[in-house]
Amino acid sequence: MDDAMDDDIRALYQEVILDHGKNPRNFRHPDDAPLEAHGNNPLCGDKLTVYVRLGEGDTIEDAAFEGRGCAISIASASMMTGILRGKTVAEMERLFGAFHTMCTGEGEIDAAAGREFEDDIDKLRVLSGVKQFPMRVKCATLAWHTVNAAILGEQGASTE
Ligand code: ZN
Repeated sequence: MDDAMDDDIRALYQEVILDHGKNPRNFRHPDDAPLEAHGNNPLCGDKLTVYVRLGEGDTIEDAAFEGRGCAISIASASMMTGILRGKTVAEMERLFGAFHTMCTGEGEIDAAAGREFEDDIDKLRVLSGVKQFPMRVKCATLAWHTVNAAILGEQGASTE
């Protein structure tokens, strides 16, 4: 769609972002989440802590977050934590790659990942408008960088 994205779709996307921004899902500090990392996007002031628990076969059994930031950063974390539950770490990395491509607008989403994660990519598409605003790309991808840091055992992720 891109340039042809019509105003109705744009308004719908905006509504979804505002809903997640105001009522974020998985906004909590789980008792049992051994992995966590802090994400910081100083350009916008977004600060997130992401909590993860892995199970057998590196499956993400729980993902949650706390923090504050703009509607885009919170909406992205809200959607991401829901989508990642039940996925393996390898799946998370592939989906992050596809999402990152969607947000930057640089290049095409890998075709195999596009098929594998069709439903998730459809949901995440509401955030794809950030590609017109390079600073906003950092807001949209902060939660993903942070969950990746948590899983790699790094303390934090910064967009700087
Ligand atoms: Zn932001």
